[in-house]
Amino acid sequence: MPQTFTYVFDTPVYKGTSSFSTGIFINGKFQDGSEGGYIDVINPTNGKVITKVSEGTAKDVDVAVEAAQKAFDTVWGLNCPGFERGKLLYKLSELMTAHADEFAALEALDNGKTFGWARKADIEAAIGSIRYYAGWADKIQGNTIETTKDKIAYTTHEPLGVVGQIIPWNFPLMMISWKLGPALAAGNTVILKPSEFTPLTALLMAQLTVEAGFPPGVVNIINGYGTTVGHALSHHMHVEKVAFTGSTLIGRKVLEAASKTNLKDVSLELGGKSPNIIFDDCDIEQAVNWTVHGIFWNHGQACCAGSRIFVHEKIYDEFLHRFTEKTKSLKIGDPFAADSYQGPQVSQQQYDRIMSYIDSGKEAGATVHLGGSRWGNEGYFIEPTIFTETKPDMRIVQEEIFGPVGVVIKFHDDDDVIRQANDTVYGLASAIFTKNIDRALKTSQRLRAGTTWINCANQLHAQIPFGGFKQSGIGRELGEYALQHYTAVKAVHINLGHEI
Ligand code: NAD
Repeated sequence: MPQTFTYVFDTPVYKGTSSFSTGIFINGKFQDGSEGGYIDVINPTNGKVITKVSEGTAKDVDVAVEAAQKAFDTVWGLNCPGFERGKLLYKLSELMTAHADEFAALEALDNGKTFGWARKADIEAAIGSIRYYAGWADKIQGNTIETTKDKIAYTTHEPLGVVGQIIPWNFPLMMISWKLGPALAAGNTVILKPSEFTPLTALLMAQLTVEAGFPPGVVNIINGYGTTVGHALSHHMHVEKVAFTGSTLIGRKVLEAASKTNLKDVSLELGGKSPNIIFDDCDIEQAVNWTVHGIFWNHGQACCAGSRIFVHEKIYDEFLHRFTEKTKSLKIGDPFAADSYQGPQVSQQQYDRIMSYIDSGKEAGATVHLGGSRWGNEGYFIEPTIFTETKPDMRIVQEEIFGPVGVVIKFHDDDDVIRQANDTVYGLASAIFTKNIDRALKTSQRLRAGTTWINCANQLHAQIPFGGFKQSGIGRELGEYALQHYTAVKAVHINLGHEI
C-alpha cells in the first residue's frame, strides 16, 4: 500500500495540515508502482527530501490505458451527457476552491514559488480553467450543412478516446487544469503524467476527482519519469492523443513517437524567448513595472517570460536605470514569507543550467549589469540578473534560459526592433509598450508570436487561447480553441429522396 503524506504547515501565510496518498492513481485507486520504485520529492528552498512518491512504469501505463478505455466505452465519452460531465467538473472546481490555500502551500513547498503568487495566480487560474470548461461540456456542437435538394448533413464533435497528458514543473496545478479541463469536458478519458520534480499537487487533485464523483478510470495520474512513463504514453498504440507541455527538445520526441506508432494526435506547448518591446512613447513607469513582472515572475520559469527586453535608444538609459532599481527592490527569500517575490529555482538541475547560461554570457563578453550570482547559502536561489551589451548570436540572447535572467538590447526604429524580435526559432509571446495605438497594432501584426500583450505582460485567461508560432508549439490551449484538439469531427449524410 502506498504511504500517506501528511504535512503540517505552520508558516506566516498559511497554517493547516495536508494529507493524501503518495501512490500512482489508476482506475480511481491509489497504488504502488508495478516495480515498487519511489521518487524523492525535494524542497528547493533547502535541498532536503520532503517525502517520496510511488514511481510509475510503462507497465502501469498499460494498466491505466486499459482502465481509461473501459471507462470511455462504458461510463464516459458518449455514455455520459455533456451536462453531467460539466456538473462533475464544476464540483471539482468547488473542491479546488475549498483547498485553494492548501494547493498554494504545496506548490510553495514543492516548486519553491511564493505562496502569495501561487495563491493569486496559479491556483486561481487552475480553478478558473476547470470552471470554464465545466461550462463548455454541454455546448460542444457541430453544424448542419446544406447539400442537394434531397440530402442534408450534420457534424458531431466526438471525443477522441484515451488521451495522454505530459506536463512540466513550472506551474504544476495550472498545467494539470489546463489539460484536464478541455479533455474531460469533451468526453475523453485521461492519463496524466506530472513532472517528476513537482508531483504533490497532482496527488491532491487526484483525490479531489474521487470526491467530486468522477467514475473510476476517467482520470488517471501516474507520477514517473519522462523516459519511462512519458515515453510509454507517447508510444502507446491505444492512446489517441498526447498533449505535451515542456521543452522543444522533448516535444520533438513526442511528435516522433506519434509518427512511428499510431499517428496519434499531438498538441505541443513548448519553449519561448519572448520579446518585450519598449518604445520611446510609452508610459515608462508602467513599462518598467510590467517588464519586471514579464521576466522575473515565477523566477523566470515561465515559457512566455519576456526575456529579451528591447528598448528604444532615446529612453534606453532612463529605462535601464529605473528597471534596475525596480529589480533591486524585489524581495528574494522564503516562499512562505509574506513579502517574498522570488523563491528558489525548482531544482539543482535548473540551478546549474541557469548558472551555466550566466557563465556563457560572461564568457561571450556580455556585461552583467545586475546580479549573476547565487543568493544565500542553501537551496537553489539565483539573484535576478540583467545582461547588457549583448550580441545577437550569443546563447543568452538566442536560447531559453528559464530563469531570472533578462537581456536588455537597444534598438533604433520600428523596423529594426521587429527584425530583432523575430530573429528567434521561437514564437510564443510578445509584449509591446507604447501609447500610440497604430504603432501597437501594427507591431503586433508584424510579430511572429502566438500572443501579444499591449502595455502588459504574462496575462493568461481561461477564455483566451495560448500557444506558439514556429518552434514554440503546435495547437492552442485554453478558450474554445483547445476543444478542437480533444474532439474529432464526424460528418453524417442523410438521404431523404430516392435518386442515386
Ligand atoms: P521537459 O521537456 O524536460 O519535461 C516536460 C515533461 O516531459 C516532464 O513531465 C518530463 O518528465 C517529460 N519527459 C521528459 N522526457 C520525456 C520523453 N522522452 N518522452 C515523454 N515525456 C518526457 O521540460 P521541463 O524542464 O519540465 O519544463 C520546462 C520547459 O517547458 C521549458 O522549455 C518551457 O518553456 C516549457 N513550458 C512551455 C509552456 C507552454 O505553454 N508553451 C508552459 C510551461 C513550460
